[in-house]
Amino acid sequence: MKYPGESDARESIVMHGESLHRRGFVPGSSGNISVRISDGILVSPTNSCLGRLDPARISKIDLNGSHIAGDKPSKEAFLHASMYGQRATDGAVVHLHSTNAVAVSCRADLDPEFPIRPVTPYYVMKVGKLKVLPYFPPGDPELAHAVEAVAGRHHAILLANHGPVVAGSDLDSAVYAIEELEEAAKLSLLLEGARVNPLTAEQIAALEKRFPN
Ligand code: ZN
Repeated sequence: MKYPGESDARESIVMHGESLHRRGFVPGSSGNISVRISDGILVSPTNSCLGRLDPARISKIDLNGSHIAGDKPSKEAFLHASMYGQRATDGAVVHLHSTNAVAVSCRADLDPEFPIRPVTPYYVMKVGKLKVLPYFPPGDPELAHAVEAVAGRHHAILLANHGPVVAGSDLDSAVYAIEELEEAAKLSLLLEGARVNPLTAEQIAALEKRFPN
């Protein structure tokens, strides 16, 4: 796999952080972004606002999540390390506390097979089979183990009462996929109680075959 250069990766994290913040996907100091480079992982620092990251201060960790350089990493950096450890060809991970996906993650009647029922092809193409994990308190090492157990088969995970984590081949792909997940969550809430034509199992299977993710 070809990794991006370190300075390009830093600039890309700053640019996507500002974009996600400006559009309301990362309120306060929530959310974290990472990019894999040749000698480690660059991740947004702890207690940082993604809207105004300093490229020089972004944290660097190794694949075990240990701090190598820069500011102290996000307390959720272990989520990113767990994803990379199971997904050799992915180069970026994004985790959000975005309102609509979090709302879906809190539902008592969440269908573990289809936490968000696909109603558009783009959701199937960019997100695919969303995996739900149960609630864990912040920083619980059991959450890292739970992510490791499913990350090899799922690039998109929804943490109950918490939010989504999505990996992609590069940061653009990971951001596009998690934004699609957030919009699909919003659609599912908007359509609550409405008569809906979801995509059929055959339509979903045809998309998965044509656009594997
Ligand atoms: Zn979180």
